[in-house]
Amino acid sequence: MLSAHQINVLQHLVDNCEEYITDLAEENGIKNTDASIGVAKFLVAHPENFTKMSPNQKFHYETAIEPLINEVCCDGMTGEDGSCMGNGFIDEDSLLGAYLEQDMRCQHCVATTNSWFENNP
Ligand SMILES: [Zn+2]
Repeated sequence: MLSAHQINVLQHLVDNCEEYITDLAEENGIKNTDASIGVAKFLVAHPENFTKMSPNQKFHYETAIEPLINEVCCDGMTGEDGSCMGNGFIDEDSLLGAYLEQDMRCQHCVATTNSWFENNP
């Protein structure tokens, strides 16, 4: 099942940045990217739809949707691999904000950067 946070993020992607889904689908060899968008819309339509996915829908989910909403990697405090101050992933409850700000860092990295600037004006 998807959490409420994940549903919110997916809703945002469907409404505002479908290309995140279609780009990821294309990168992974999916030709019918409309079908991937269709699965995303199916999932946001009702939380219980997650349990009703066909094997084909599940394939689209795992390939083009899940990496965007589940265990999304933090860019790291300095935007480099391995510089994350947290566990390397963006928490679900921070994820929507990360997409909105287009700042793909976890709250630990954001907080550390903010306090650095506060202490080094
Ligand atoms: Zn981080």
